[in-house]
Order: sequence, then structure tokens, then C-alpha cells
Amino acid sequence: MLGLGIESTAHTFSCAVMEKKNSTGKILSDVRRIYRPPDGEGIHPREASRHHIDAGPAVLSECLAKAGIDIGNLDIISYAAGPGLGPCLRVGAVVARSLSSYYKIPIYPVNHALGHIELGKLLTGARNPLVLLVSGGHTMLLAFLNKQWRVFGETLDITLGQLLDQFGRSIGFASPCGRDIESLASNTSEYIQLPYSVKGNDVSFSGLLSAAKSVAKKNKNGACFSLQETAFAMMSEAVERALSFTGKKELMVVGGVAANKRLSEMLQDVCKRHGCKFFVVPLKYAGDCGSQICWTGLLESQAKPGAKMKDTFVTQSWRLDSVVVPY
Ligand code: AMP
Ligand code: MG
Repeated sequence: MLGLGIESTAHTFSCAVMEKKNSTGKILSDVRRIYRPPDGEGIHPREASRHHIDAGPAVLSECLAKAGIDIGNLDIISYAAGPGLGPCLRVGAVVARSLSSYYKIPIYPVNHALGHIELGKLLTGARNPLVLLVSGGHTMLLAFLNKQWRVFGETLDITLGQLLDQFGRSIGFASPCGRDIESLASNTSEYIQLPYSVKGNDVSFSGLLSAAKSVAKKNKNGACFSLQETAFAMMSEAVERALSFTGKKELMVVGGVAANKRLSEMLQDVCKRHGCKFFVVPLKYAGDCGSQICWTGLLESQAKPGAKMKDTFVTQSWRLDSVVVPY
């Protein structure tokens, strides 16, 4: 089976072609263009969607050329139908619908969060993990039971990615800022006390954001270091409790923030204490990309036919725990 996956939920427009044989998947191409807002500013949904419209044709042609296939060879097309920014989601959906109806190829709307998880499982080999999904759009702890991903904890306000990006922009970085913060944090090991807020198994980052911004006025390196230490310790506490509760023997971290080395280090310590295997998605596939959507569409195509055109929706707030996984 050959699939094309289209990702356009937020800053990234990406197309990927993958081949599925039995339960193995091979990425034949994965091409991306990322919208970069001006320094100090966040994503403007309309500007990002314009970026995607401009980038779309070149990304699609390059993706097919790199995979060495024609559109007619594709068995299915999948696109990220949510959650995400409405204007951005619509661009991917329009490209997918046009190709599907013109070339008569079955179409699959895919949940973006499920895409992060399924590609993570394929690339790491994790089988039944507790999942920590930490990205621009998500901060969730999840475990799979009876065909659905169940939430064991999540953010009560902003996501871990938003915490890093909003803080980073306040000190003049361009979004996404996670990597720049990680780099400044590595200049020091001076910890400055910051608000730590875990409520039950949920986390809240907005107090931490305000306090870190105020520390950064005097000490940028110390603020970056302390922000990472505090936020990642909060996540580690929630992970540890969820591991105890679920008894899972695998932890898998996915999403853009999974690229952070310090986060992995802290979670590895937690895993050691619980006799649990640690998996982290490879850096190249941590952030949003077409392969996540493509692989999930290929898995879904084992279990159900493509969607009718009238059902090719986009939903800005499509929660993962409402998705029934049919395969
Ligand atoms: P995604 O929405 O999955 O594409 O993830 C994007 C998020 O990942 C943004 O908030 C980035 O700041 C964050 N990110 C990327 N690289 C790193 C890193 N090395 N450390 C922490 N966060 C990161
Ligand atoms: Mg994402």
C-alpha cells in the first residue's frame, strides 16, 4: 500500500509518501516548509495559511519526486483534519480533497495527535506505552484501552510548547523557541525558584510563565535553565504517578518538545525507578510532519473504507480521547 499524508495543522506544511507492507512502514519521502513569524511574534493563523497555500504545490511535487512515484500510484490520501488552526487545516483538506476527487483515490481524515503517537510507535518499536505527547498544541499523558486513548493528565491552561514559545518570544527569540531556550539553559546550572503547579495529575504553566518572564529581565540563562527544570519536573511527577497507576512498562515521548535532551534525561530517571523502558521519537520526526498523518491513514485503511467527500471535515478542537481507533 502506498499512501500520501498531508500535514497543515499549524506552522508546518508537509507532504510524505509511505509504503506499508503488513505491519511495517517505510518513509519514501517527507518534505516540509515551516512558517516563521517575525521575531517576538506568535503564529498568525491567516499568515500561516497563506504560507501553506504558497508552499503547497512545490512541497507536493518534491515529495512525489523524492518518492519516485506518480499520484496515480497512490492507494490512499490522508490529511490532518484537526486539532489545529482552522485556516491552516483547511489548506491541507482542500489539497487532499482535490487530489482524491480528481484521481479517485480514497481519502482519510486523520487526528493529528494520533499521528504523533502512531509514527512514534512505528519508529521506536514501543508496543503498549504510556504516552507523553508534548508539542505546540498538546500536553497530554495517554494510555490505550478498548480502542481509545485515555487521558491520564493534561495541561489546565497552556501547553508545554506554548510555555516555551511564549517565554522565548518575550526574550526576543523567533517561534518555535524550544531549541534556543535549551541552548541558553545549558550555559548555567543556577536554579532560581519558580512556581511549580501539579494539580492531581494535571499541570498548569501560566504562573510559571509570568514568573520566568520576570526573572529573565535580570538573568536570561538562569531563567531558561530554571524554566526547563521546573516545567520538566512537573511533567516527570505526572508521568511517575501515571506509571504507578497504569503499571505500564513502556514510556514513549512524542511531539516537538520530545527533541529536548534534558526532558529525556529526567524521564529516563523516572523510568529507571519503575523498571520501565524509555522510548523517544527520533528528532527528525518529533515535530509535525506528513509521515505522522500518512502512517495513521495507512493503518486506518486496514480497517475501514475511505471517507465520503461530505465527511471530509476539519475540526479545530478534535480531542484525541473522542477518536475510536478501528485497527
Ligand atoms: P510540534 O507542534 O509537534 O511541531 O512541536 C513544536 C514545539 O516543539 C514548539 O513549541 C517548539 O518550541 C518545541 N521544541 C522544538 N525543539 C525543542 C527543543 N529542543 N526543546 C524544547 N522544545 C522544543
Ligand atoms: Mg504536533
